[in-house]
Amino acid sequence: MDPKTLLKKYFGYDSFRPGQEEVILHILAHKDALVLMPTGGGKSICYQIPALMLSGTCLVVSPLLSLMRDQVEALKALGIPAAALNSTNNPAEDYQIRRRCMEGELKLLYLSPERLLAEASMLLQNLQVSFVAIDEAHCISQWGHDFRPEYTELGRLRDMMPDVAIMALTATADKITRKDIIKQLRLRELGEFVSSFDRPNLSLTVKRGFRQRDKLSFIVNFIKARPFDPGIIYCLSRKSTEQVAEALRRQGINAAPYHAGMEPFERNRTQEMFKRDDLLVVCATIAFGMGIDKSNVRWIIHYNMPKSLESYYQEIGRAGRDGAPAETILFYSLSDVIQLKKFCEESGEPDVAFNKLHRMQEYAEASVCRRRILLNYFGEETADDCGNCDVCQDPPERFDGSRFVQMALSAAKRTQEKVGVNTIVEILRGMNSPTIMRHQYNLLPTYGVGRELSVETWQDYLLQMYQMGFLDVIYNENNRAVVTPLGAEVLYGRRQAMLCLRRPEPPREKKPKKKRLNLIIPTLPIFKPQEEEDAELFDALRLMRKDMADKEGVPPYIIFNDKVLHAIATQKPETIDDFREITGIGEYKKRRYGKQITDFISKFYGHG
Ligand code: ADP
Ligand code: ZN
Repeated sequence: MDPKTLLKKYFGYDSFRPGQEEVILHILAHKDALVLMPTGGGKSICYQIPALMLSGTCLVVSPLLSLMRDQVEALKALGIPAAALNSTNNPAEDYQIRRRCMEGELKLLYLSPERLLAEASMLLQNLQVSFVAIDEAHCISQWGHDFRPEYTELGRLRDMMPDVAIMALTATADKITRKDIIKQLRLRELGEFVSSFDRPNLSLTVKRGFRQRDKLSFIVNFIKARPFDPGIIYCLSRKSTEQVAEALRRQGINAAPYHAGMEPFERNRTQEMFKRDDLLVVCATIAFGMGIDKSNVRWIIHYNMPKSLESYYQEIGRAGRDGAPAETILFYSLSDVIQLKKFCEESGEPDVAFNKLHRMQEYAEASVCRRRILLNYFGEETADDCGNCDVCQDPPERFDGSRFVQMALSAAKRTQEKVGVNTIVEILRGMNSPTIMRHQYNLLPTYGVGRELSVETWQDYLLQMYQMGFLDVIYNENNRAVVTPLGAEVLYGRRQAMLCLRRPEPPREKKPKKKRLNLIIPTLPIFKPQEEEDAELFDALRLMRKDMADKEGVPPYIIFNDKVLHAIATQKPETIDDFREITGIGEYKKRRYGKQITDFISKFYGHG
């Protein structure tokens, strides 16, 4: 069978994504390959299909037990014989797996790098290795962002298995890291396959100048409008993961923290519940996500700004791996920038760190399509705006804000540049805080001149003034704000300052309107809208999927991912042949679930 037939038979897809088929043909010719695709881009199929076509077993190296488990589970659910050799197996399981290898029954065998090298001679004697796939290959390089010493040992692979082709796969590797991977693995007859890093199904939104309290109430409303959607809130510190989770729980949202300081037992439990949709919201530090392959994460919120675009892109990349739409929101505030600058200063390479932070900030402040900025950063040029970011959807409106800049800078000057932005806002708004009273700032001529703007608007405009270089924050001197030479030009009327108009946030996220089935004549199939999703059917299917998953002891997305579930709720198959037409339903799932699903749909519409 050719690759395309197998794609349809096992995975239920009609066509390859760009690059996949080329990689497959290359490895089928026994040549090495380096595959660079974004998270969710479809790397696994690049080695799984050739593994099915070649005789023998494909060895897949993977860094984390949990990743291996997920992959093996997913393959079994497609009817593909696969297993993992790892430290959690007992001797009897290991024995079973070895026997199945020897009998040539397993098409894919997952192992850790240590295990592969430890067992190389046994493996070579007892089974026919079709080729080796190395997942997360950037872990081999010190230049990558997740160096793992165990991976460097893979350099010996070439000597141990000189005739076996190697496929290295990764989602993050800049040019230097790529070269390092090639060198260390001694790849030859190399094909380098680099896909577009665009993830068009992820929407990109940045929210500026929210205070703590407002962030939380925004998040609560956001989650309540999506009560069934799993999501991750990334926070900067362990403590804030706990605080945010606690605050959400008080609002009746089932959320849990996740960070490296937790007991391993508690951490695994949280991760496992999240995978199974028993827990929908996780407040996490960056430690969360690397080890999970959950495809139905529907939203990511960055409670604080990450330190670089690399981290940001990787973190939002954990959403929407099934290809269905997913939302991402980044909160961006001056206090984050100040905090991150401190981290930069303390890091081993402050120049590099500052530079990365600066690019991150530019992204957050952008007034052009955000996706273009991201793709450009990762070396891809695009000619078109994306239409799926907040800038494209609602371009910022600019106005001559010189008057406001002058007010703020004048307040800074009149306090001898000794106070931070919060006090400046208090002065402008004419507030009676203890600081104001203690220093008698209420006697300044600028006191109360800015009452026409709200506190939030002032904070936002001050952030913009900072971004435009009109004022600077001395973060190692109590964050006092000073007027820059450029700011002085605005202050003395020699330069105009254009600000982005801040529109007040609508108080509440409206519940997205659910598409409703036309209920007038629902029993006649001929009147059933064919290509419109039935939201009620979707909800019913989701509950059914959860039941099926719990019975089988696997996460729901292993049974059907969200994209498949949406397709079922749209195409509403009532025969098994119609069911097979759904993208993502292969032979095995048709046989296994076809009858159950089509019966369910017939019943749902009252024909059963
Ligand atoms: P990666 O390992 O690159 O993060 P996966 O291999 O997990 O990504 O693939 C992500 C999703 O895309 C999976 O749900 C997979 O089934 C789906 N996918 C892969 N290739 C195709 C294709 N050719 N057509 C449709 N969906 C695909
Ligand atoms: Zn855009």
